[in-house]
Amino acid sequence: MRYVSTRDPSHSATLSDAVARGIAPGGGLYVPESFPELSADDFDPEASLAETAERTLAPFFAADALAPHLTAIVREALSFPTPLRMLKERTAVLELFHGPTAAFKDYGARFLAACLARIPSADPRPLTILVATSGDTGGAVAAAVHGRPGMEVVVLYPRGLVSPRQEKQLTCWGGNVRALAVRGDFDACQRLAKEAFADAELARSRRLTSANSINVARLLAQMGYFAWSALRYRTETGSDAGFIVPTGNVGNATAGLWARRCGLPVREVVMATNANRALGDFVAGGDWRPGTPTVATLATAMDVGRPSNLERVVHLAGGEDAARKAVRTFAVTDDEIRDEIGRGEAEWGETWDPHTATAAAVRRKIGGEDWILVATAHPAKFEGVVEPLVGHPVPVPPDLAALLERPSHAAEIDATLAALKRELAAGG
Ligand SMILES: *Cc1c(COP(=O)(O)O)cnc(C)c1O
Repeated sequence: MRYVSTRDPSHSATLSDAVARGIAPGGGLYVPESFPELSADDFDPEASLAETAERTLAPFFAADALAPHLTAIVREALSFPTPLRMLKERTAVLELFHGPTAAFKDYGARFLAACLARIPSADPRPLTILVATSGDTGGAVAAAVHGRPGMEVVVLYPRGLVSPRQEKQLTCWGGNVRALAVRGDFDACQRLAKEAFADAELARSRRLTSANSINVARLLAQMGYFAWSALRYRTETGSDAGFIVPTGNVGNATAGLWARRCGLPVREVVMATNANRALGDFVAGGDWRPGTPTVATLATAMDVGRPSNLERVVHLAGGEDAARKAVRTFAVTDDEIRDEIGRGEAEWGETWDPHTATAAAVRRKIGGEDWILVATAHPAKFEGVVEPLVGHPVPVPPDLAALLERPSHAAEIDATLAALKRELAAGG
């Protein structure tokens, strides 16, 4: 399988090269050149997540240097529980928050680190993974790479715009992980990372790669749980489920659309957004490229004004108008998020975090049957929002509790390439 750039069909790369580079030359995003035809009959209905992911991803690894390592990669990366629980009214919840940093970003980050650790390189310099984060990605990548030889992580996060526990997960590591608090919003962090990747001087001085959802490895990892849960749902109910995905940068939803394209029993992928309008405006006929200013909401990890993976959705659909017809999006206000969290325990028996609450709100708006709500974060990560609404403390998962005990280190920088370069140089 080769990977082509969304912006330049004449450029293609192997999986290893696409993963190592992160972004394609010219700023495009890597997408699979074609999608395999998979059928539910190809899968063992009792298979584990790792086994289903391996079967799903084998064609995407075919002929690459990483292909012989796929079994080891899925076993290492997808090794924590992923419950799919049936609730009432033919609705299920897919809990993606049982990894080390309690959000779904652990899947992609661990898978990416497991791939990077196995990609042969002739360059002896350590690999610098630069990651812009709206909160959860940075912590997941830091956790996945901390202590791995030959790699370091530099995390860019918007100062004051992530929850205190998220910030702890970014800043508690030390060693081969550095956290930079940027004076700007997430889009400023993302822009800064893009500028760094485009900078010739930086490219000469270090081996730089990206861990954002622009990296195709993260999307491949996420296809694994869409495949596994879609197959499980069909086995248990005889019906095909649609997924409601809390969406910001559209990485998770794109993985769902890719699984669907391969023929897995994904009926539909519905994108739940917060008050940030870019996605809804695009589907209503607007242009996403200029972006809209980011609005701060309770679902902070979805506060994205220019969702980069829309470019992949457009590519998959074969054009903007086709993409607009292919996806449904629903916007959820902060008041609706509060309302869902407040009634979640009585109504569903669930303590929603603010992101998953957007999916629950969309479930209410959309009606119908056979929906899987994608639960993207543990409510204990956002206790400041959740606890007053549910009226009791939310128990903290043990991995998260252990991180909260560690001391924090972060440097503050302006949102300029010059400031980032100074900081990188100072760190060696
Ligand atoms: C990142 C994140 C999202 C949004 O996912 P995208 O792939 O950026 O659309 C939703 N919820 C949580 C908790 C997240 O961390």
